[in-house]
Amino acid sequence: MQRHETDPEALLEIFQKTLIQAGIKVTHQRLEIFKELCKTAGHPDAETIYKNIASKLPTISLDTVYRTLQLFAKLGLIDIFGTQYSRMRFDTNTKPHHHFICTNCGTIYDFYSEELSNLNIPDAVRKIGEIQKIQLEIKGICHQCANEAESTKT
Ligand SMILES: [Zn+2]
Ligand SMILES: [Zn+2]
Repeated sequence: MQRHETDPEALLEIFQKTLIQAGIKVTHQRLEIFKELCKTAGHPDAETIYKNIASKLPTISLDTVYRTLQLFAKLGLIDIFGTQYSRMRFDTNTKPHHHFICTNCGTIYDFYSEELSNLNIPDAVRKIGEIQKIQLEIKGICHQCANEAESTKT
């Protein structure tokens, strides 16, 4: 699956530049967490990242992973969505885009639509607060899950 159009090499370069500019050390730990983020499709949560890098970084804690991800978000390298601490998801795609969320496997797919990004927001929303960005969530069953369900039937 093509996660999104930004290639990992370019992302890594941006990552290193951003940290250096902010005066933050590019440690092995931070680098590994960011690399893991880039290669994990479907907007991983912190626990997934933690599990995947635990073999490479046996001394790392889940808390460190959280704090590192929040640092990346503060630097604008990734987006966070989801509000509950444990359900936070992290997105290396910081360009305007929308999400297709598979209700079966939980994978979140990116998609782009100028039309949706320029959507006319109803007054009801403006009454609640100031809009910072428009990111829609479409829920459904992804083709991969549908195909798997199909193949287990036969
Ligand atoms: Zn799915
Ligand atoms: Zn996304």
